[in-house]
Amino acid sequence: MAKCEYCNNDMLKSNGCDTAQIILNDGETYDRIAVGDEYDFYYGMEDETLRCHDCNALMGEYHHAGCDCEICPKCHEQLISCEC
Ligand SMILES: [Zn+2]
Ligand SMILES: [Zn+2]
Ligand SMILES: [Zn+2]
Repeated sequence: MAKCEYCNNDMLKSNGCDTAQIILNDGETYDRIAVGDEYDFYYGMEDETLRCHDCNALMGEYHHAGCDCEICPKCHEQLISCEC
């Protein structure tokens, strides 16, 4: 099963993550980038029923942990592959 390590919900059954902030390696807390937010992979799409193809989060909700579409709020690169 795909459980999110942030919110502990099953990714396929929840509409998004309830964790709004993350702490990066620099020790600072950052506001996460939600599905459809500026810089997000889905930014500019107007379909409100759209879900992230990787973590299943709904438009306007936060991606779940480890989603390959989540963007780093610090460097605006892909979060799972950036150095932050
Ligand atoms: Zn989650
Ligand atoms: Zn996602
Ligand atoms: Zn980064």
